[in-house]
Amino acid sequence: MTKIKDTALDSFQYAISEYLLRNKSILDQMTKLESSNARINRTLSKAVTHCGCLKVNASKQNYPEDMQPEKISTHLEGKICPNCRDFLEKEIGHHLFYLASLCNNLDLNLYDIIIKELERLNLLGKFNMR
Ligand SMILES: [Zn+2]
Repeated sequence: MTKIKDTALDSFQYAISEYLLRNKSILDQMTKLESSNARINRTLSKAVTHCGCLKVNASKQNYPEDMQPEKISTHLEGKICPNCRDFLEKEIGHHLFYLASLCNNLDLNLYDIIIKELERLNLLGKFNMR
């Protein structure tokens, strides 16, 4: 890591560099990151198909001219239940673990990346069409 900052994110990234014994190979990290991403989607899918706390009701988006975010549909109905929320949080945590380990291997700092992305977001505002 390039620098140590007093933030929870830096502590997290540093802890991973200290405790990660397996999967130090960049190839392991790349594939673990991809499979953890798939598990997030799988967990979300199970919330719809197995639990039923969420429902997907999707159709073509009609973007309003004023681009008010509240007028654009998420295609989600319902509210995630505590059980599915717990599973989803664990999977997102695993994903962050592999993202941080990949960053460690490449000497990238997650905190710096988030700050740079925040600056880009603030610069582009709602015209950031991702
Ligand atoms: Zn649920």
